[in-house]
This record gives sequence, C-alpha cells and structure tokens, in this order.
Amino acid sequence: MFHLHIVFCQIVNKKKYELCLEEYYQELFPYITMLDRNQRKRVRDMRRCLTIIAVMLGGFMESCSSPELALKMQTTGLETNCYLLYDPVSREAAIIDVGGPIDELLTVIGEGNLHLEYFLLTHGHSDHLIGVPAVRGDFPDAQLCMHKDAYVDLQTEREWAMANLGEEVIAEWMQQYPYFHKIVEFDVDTLGDPDVFLDDGDVIHLGNHPIQVMLCPGHARGSLCYHVDGLLFSGDVLFKGSVGRVDGQNSSRDDQITSVRRLYRELPDDTIVYPGHGESTTIGDERTGNKYITETAVDL
Ligand SMILES: [Zn+2]
Ligand SMILES: [Zn+2]
Repeated sequence: MFHLHIVFCQIVNKKKYELCLEEYYQELFPYITMLDRNQRKRVRDMRRCLTIIAVMLGGFMESCSSPELALKMQTTGLETNCYLLYDPVSREAAIIDVGGPIDELLTVIGEGNLHLEYFLLTHGHSDHLIGVPAVRGDFPDAQLCMHKDAYVDLQTEREWAMANLGEEVIAEWMQQYPYFHKIVEFDVDTLGDPDVFLDDGDVIHLGNHPIQVMLCPGHARGSLCYHVDGLLFSGDVLFKGSVGRVDGQNSSRDDQITSVRRLYRELPDDTIVYPGHGESTTIGDERTGNKYITETAVDL
C-alpha cells in the first residue's frame, strides 16, 4: 500500500517548500490520472492535488512546524482537516477536530507511543467532530474540549439545517459529497459530554507548550482558535484566501470581521495558520492578501 508522507519541514521557506512539492509532483504524476472528473476540477494547484491524492490513498500528510512540536494532518470526510499535534519529548498529543473515522490516526498514535491528552474542537459543526466518538472510545482519558456555545448549537444543528437550508440544498450536498449522509445521520449523543468547556484566554499545556485559546465567533458561535508555538489552528474562522461561511446557525458577519481582525492584530505575520479546510497559510499573507477581510476595509 502506498503511503504518502510529505515532510514540510521548510514550510516557512517558500522556495524550498515549492521545490519539495515539485519533486513529489513528478513522483505522483501517474496517480493524477486516477482522479475522477470532479476531483480534477477541484485541482487548482499542486498542493491541492497532493491533498486529494493523499486522501484517495489513505495517507497522512505530514507537516512539520516548529522544531519542538510535531504535526500530522489528514483531510477527512467533507474535506475537513484533522490535525494531530504532539510534543516529541513528552509524547503528549492533541487532536484538533476529527472529521471522519480514521483508522490510521489510531495507528499513528499507537506506533508513536503517544499519550492522547486532548480533543480540541474548533467549533460545533458535525463535519469537524463526527470521527470523535470512534477515537474517544479508544482513549477514554483524553479530555474533550470545546466552547459551551458550540456544544449547545451542535444539539440543534440538524434541525436548524433542515428548517433553514431546505431539503433541496441538502439533497444537492448529498449528491455532491458522498460522505454527507454520514453527517445527516450523525447522532450527537454519541459524542458524549465534553470534559472541559474552554473560553477565551484559557491556556492548556501539551508538554511544555502552552496552547492559547482564542474565542473567534462569526462563522459559528463558540468558535475557538488554538495558538501554540507560532502555529494557529483556525478552524473555519480563517482560510487561505478566504473565511468561513456566515449563513449558518448563529453566524454573524460582524463578529467574523472582529474575530479575523483580532487575529491579524494580535498574532505575528509569520504565524502559520492551519485551517479547518484547505491549505495552510500565514497571518501575514492573509492580513495583506485576504480580500474577504482586510485589516481595515471589507471589500465584499
Ligand atoms: Zn464550520
Ligand atoms: Zn468546516
């Protein structure tokens, strides 16, 4: 079985990063022919292409971020990113969102002799947590952490979607994303009670690394971003070149603008942003180039 492991050690060094991708692109070219028409349409650049191939082949994309923290990511379910972050010294690990059941995640944790300490949920949308019950069953001591508002809204997510999006839209999504029926059928009770309700300003520790919790509502109430060692796990608050939708339950465009501008203001430009969907980016690139929310003006 082919396993795709990409080490993005020089992720900050763009030139090297692109060279590294070019090499993998050559190696992976034959697999591109395996993509179907829809997948090809979604291939916008090499990185995107590699992500899709990695998902097809069940491989983990391996990232590296700071010399002291290791990071692995896999795109799951509805193209939702799942991150496994761990301290190679203490072996303490945290999972940020689990968008689908992932056997390989369990293997990586087991083989790495990692102690799973936390599930850190960015918000209460099912596509970010549907895989939690399966993993939680294997690690009952790991603490499930999220914001209280996110947990409250999760309870009514399906009813809200049925009432507000309409059956037609949902049927269309079901067709577009074969995985979507799992979201619709997801029983929120299987998640179990959270162990910790996090809030803005809270700090949790992974080994010696403090993880700063930032409350960033807008896309959804109770959205949390996690900031650690120059990395930001942004959930659906901030994407590369985009921001989260604000047509959901308790979404607020005003809150979204405030939240994203706070990230621009408080975090250094070289902070690497790992979003809930799509590729990573940096605060600097978004602060200067994100047309959906600029530092001062909204261009939409
Ligand atoms: Zn979301
Ligand atoms: Zn999402």
